[in-house]
Amino acid sequence: MSFDKNINPMKLHHLVGDMEADYIYTPGVAGDKFFKALRDEGKLLATSCETCKITYLPPRMYCERCFSELDKWIEAESSGVVDSFTLVHEDRDGKKLPEPVLVAFIRIDNTDGGLIHKLGGVDLDAAKIGMTVKAVLKDKSKRTGGLTDIDHFAPE
Ligand SMILES: [Zn+2]
Repeated sequence: MSFDKNINPMKLHHLVGDMEADYIYTPGVAGDKFFKALRDEGKLLATSCETCKITYLPPRMYCERCFSELDKWIEAESSGVVDSFTLVHEDRDGKKLPEPVLVAFIRIDNTDGGLIHKLGGVDLDAAKIGMTVKAVLKDKSKRTGGLTDIDHFAPE
């Protein structure tokens, strides 16, 4: 075994290979409840920590600051503010999309969290950081219990 230590911080290690960037997000208990409420009632649920005054959306079971279990569920607004956005040209597999899609990180009102989702009803020139948007849900019969039950966010 070699203990050849790299003591030069400027010397980079070089690895050849593929980096796996795909992963499956396991929503867990809090996610199950979140997606069920979205599918069945069209509501965005959040959990909140009263000690830290943090409202988590997507909801978490434990406060990441004080580690208390979070059992206070609240219905969040389905509106928010565009925090950042980008124009996406390829799908997750690197295939070119027929039309580029505007994707934004939306801070959900009255929470400390947000969602990454499609922006609709607005083009790149009109999209602005700070614009207020609202979730546009799919028809209830078409919802599957996933984030795509929100079709997109659109300006109010
Ligand atoms: Zn806390």
